Amino acid sequence: MRDKIIEEIKKADTIMIAGHIMPDGDDISSVSSLTYGLTMYGKKTVGIIDDEIPEYLEEFKFVKKYIRDFDCAKKNPSDLIIIVDASSPDRVGRVQELFEYRRVIVIDHHATNTNFGNINWIDPSYASTAQMVKEVLKGLDVKYNSELATMNLTGIATDTGFFRYSNTDQKVFRDAADLIEKGAELSKITNSVLENKPIENLLLLKDVIDEMEFYNDNKIVISHVKLDMIEKYNILPKDIPPFVGDLRSLKGVEVAVMFNEHEKGVFHVSMRSKEWFDVSKIAFEMGGGGHPRAAGFSSDKPLEELKNITLLKIKEVFEKK
Ligand code: AMP
Ligand code: MN
Ligand code: MN
Repeated sequence: MRDKIIEEIKKADTIMIAGHIMPDGDDISSVSSLTYGLTMYGKKTVGIIDDEIPEYLEEFKFVKKYIRDFDCAKKNPSDLIIIVDASSPDRVGRVQELFEYRRVIVIDHHATNTNFGNINWIDPSYASTAQMVKEVLKGLDVKYNSELATMNLTGIATDTGFFRYSNTDQKVFRDAADLIEKGAELSKITNSVLENKPIENLLLLKDVIDEMEFYNDNKIVISHVKLDMIEKYNILPKDIPPFVGDLRSLKGVEVAVMFNEHEKGVFHVSMRSKEWFDVSKIAFEMGGGGHPRAAGFSSDKPLEELKNITLLKIKEVFEKK
């Protein structure tokens, strides 16, 4: 499939590369690496994310250089659209309005991908989409500089929780080592993502801890962030920190769920598991997607109802075990 994609890239003159809404590190890394890499290869490119970028990712210089908003997508008609790290068309926001008239290639590592492109390269054995982008650029023989190596490594680092999650396999270390050899600066990535927290995030964590609820002998933990909780600290919805990782890190917890209100009455539900629970199945049933140990969905149901439905589904799986 990679070779078919390389053929399509060679044929196209102008290429749009788009990522998913509520962008994460793998998303901004994949969009900017492919955009910059294909520019180096001689193509006219534009990188698009139809959503606001969280503050901690905005700080990467390459985000400002290579990622544009949807208005820019409309102004840049292209022969080919390449979607990265998005498992379904609704995940790309308004970019899906442009699909009808162009060829669409999807490059993604989510098992829940709905194969919505004309050509789909979906491989859940990759820990990050950034590694699949690396394969494409390798196939085109694009020469890396330190900037491209750092932006490409960002997605590998963030989607593996900085080489800690169960998806951290030999390939992850091989690809990371290769990028470091090409000049990637891992400390720049760790400093921006991990060592750069506004104090307000810790104050909000205190409130999230107050709202924690435990179920099934403390194997399930849930909490929430409502708009009034973030307004208190002047935190924007796009900058709600990923507290679900803090909840999962607790001793004895198998499943952690955060309900984050991103706009009035609409919650993004982030789920994580530690050893065996497949949260992607629940996310998929609820209209979202993701990976076995990290998945999510959105809903406009009232918070208490949403918590009850989600908990019921999680508890069912525990009962069947
Ligand atoms: P999050 O909890 O938002 O950090 O997302 C965890 C994983 O689930 C990531 O791989 C996301 O791409 C995926 N994901 C989150 N929300 C959705 C959604 N609404 N639809 C599909 N995949 C999602
Ligand atoms: Mn992502
Ligand atoms: Mn990813």
